Amino acid sequence: MCGIYLDYQSASPVDPRVHEFMERYLSCDFGNPSALHSRGLAARAALEEARTKVAELINAEGPENIIFTGGVTEANNLAVRGVAQRNAGIGKKLLASSIEHISVLNPLKGLLKSGYELALVPVDSTGIIDLAQLESLISKETILTSVMYANSDIGTIEPIREVSDMVHERGMYLHVDATAAAGKIPLDVQKEGIDLLTLSSNDLYGPQGAGALYVKPGVRIQPVLFGGGQERGLRAGTENLYAIAGMGEAARLASLEKAIESSRLQAIRDGLIKEILTIEQSYLTGHPTLRLPHHASFRFSRIEGESILLTMDAMFNIQVSTGSACSSRTLEPSHVLLAIGLKHEQAHGSMVMTLGKENNPDQIPAIVNAVRKTVDRLRALSPL
Ligand code: PMP
Repeated sequence: MCGIYLDYQSASPVDPRVHEFMERYLSCDFGNPSALHSRGLAARAALEEARTKVAELINAEGPENIIFTGGVTEANNLAVRGVAQRNAGIGKKLLASSIEHISVLNPLKGLLKSGYELALVPVDSTGIIDLAQLESLISKETILTSVMYANSDIGTIEPIREVSDMVHERGMYLHVDATAAAGKIPLDVQKEGIDLLTLSSNDLYGPQGAGALYVKPGVRIQPVLFGGGQERGLRAGTENLYAIAGMGEAARLASLEKAIESSRLQAIRDGLIKEILTIEQSYLTGHPTLRLPHHASFRFSRIEGESILLTMDAMFNIQVSTGSACSSRTLEPSHVLLAIGLKHEQAHGSMVMTLGKENNPDQIPAIVNAVRKTVDRLRALSPL
């Protein structure tokens, strides 16, 4: 049997059309966008073309509102630390949902040493932010609130418009990590009232090594990396033109194709959820309907997610995840699963499937069969 890849969220292949588009920026059009000669001007034009394509994906006011970075972790750090440091004179209170990615939570926690205060807003058992708690925690000194568009461990989509209204009634800026949502569901920073939004290239089938931060006109932010004045002075360093050009093309293709591709993936996802939930003591994690179209996440009692992942890989050549790839090597349960109220032993039995271009409905029986056999086998071996 050919392998079946179900971990698109931790890494995706580069779309062949993007790959072809990018190639010339490694060979012929490799110039430095800051150089004044013709090669530099051509590189500058390619950079600006990518900026326009990314701006269009999220309906930004203009391309100048997109700042390219070396990845989404860097973009999240720039959003959090750049806003906090620039607006410290107004207030030092920071808010975030308890299920933010560690690339948001860790820079926020890092600011505590400099006198900032951080409060985490709880979520319910499906991962939806508690709006009443959010409202009670926001004050005039709250300079930044960070709530992700959708969660990568459980697929839940947050009510961003309502969050935005609440944030802007009393607080200052809303930052939204849209890594998991971009290219899967429509994003509109103007309609949703978002001040800062972060995007990853690879999650759009672009190359690794590029990310972007949208900064709404008028938002006060300062750089966290210092050097040359690239990217409106907000991200110093020669631009990674090859990766950025690829990210732009990936964003263009996502704008055109996401509606059709997402409904195709949603049908496969629904088939998987329906079948996998027939396994005894299996549960869906995250929201049953307000979830990303390509995302199916489960927990199984009495077995460990790592054993599921390794057995599925070794015996069936099917690659799944246990949750956040970035922290999975720690063998700690995902902080997201604990935040939705699961006990440690429940959170340990988690399995996440994220679907992508190479998946099709014909794979459903093989995947379900592999999960069923894996769960049976591990439970038979389990001392629990
Ligand atoms: N935010 C979210 C929601 C993520 O899922 C991830 C991981 N894919 C990141 C940020 C960080 O991504 P990277 O490690 O590629 O910078």
